Amino acid sequence: MYSQSIQRLIGAFSRFPAVGPRTASRFTFHLLKADKKEAEDLMAAIGELHEKVRLCRFCFNPFDEAPQKKGFCALCLDETRDRSLLCIVEKESDLEALERTLRYRGLYFILGGTVGMLQTEDLSRLRLKELKARLQDIGPKIRLREIILATNPTTEGEATALYLERFLKPFSVPTTRLGRGLPLGGELEYADEETLKSALEGRR
Ligand SMILES: [Zn+2]
Repeated sequence: MYSQSIQRLIGAFSRFPAVGPRTASRFTFHLLKADKKEAEDLMAAIGELHEKVRLCRFCFNPFDEAPQKKGFCALCLDETRDRSLLCIVEKESDLEALERTLRYRGLYFILGGTVGMLQTEDLSRLRLKELKARLQDIGPKIRLREIILATNPTTEGEATALYLERFLKPFSVPTTRLGRGLPLGGELEYADEETLKSALEGRR
């Protein structure tokens, strides 16, 4: 039986996504053996996370809050971005993956998840109300010419895109999907840049 302090940290790491008890104990013993400085840096980074990171008022992209930014992330504040394009992604890492391609210059909206096959309880976790509000807000000022449904090529991602197509119908803005070529069942964040670039360019 490990000591209480060790067990406590293993327990904390075990709650991380995709981390089982074995990996959790490896992390813990890594920290135990490493310099005290490493553990302190980790503590500081964790402390800062909730202290500094805010979700963007428009797209929900997390960013380090600075007083002059008024709650918007750097992407949303960037005047050079095309405000007539909106790309809906499931999560933060998908936004990052698309940004890395340097092929998309519009705005984003992070939906916060997917619609599973059973739908009902999943829906409440998505930012659908917020999405509707954004579309109503930007509608009269800027004409949206395209909404890209950049969900992952997984079963849940497909179901989500279909759901969004229906959900967005009343706004009469053309919606597109990423082009073919993305590995089925994969996630945007693991797709290589070239594939993602051509999926963006080949959207339909
Ligand atoms: Zn933003």
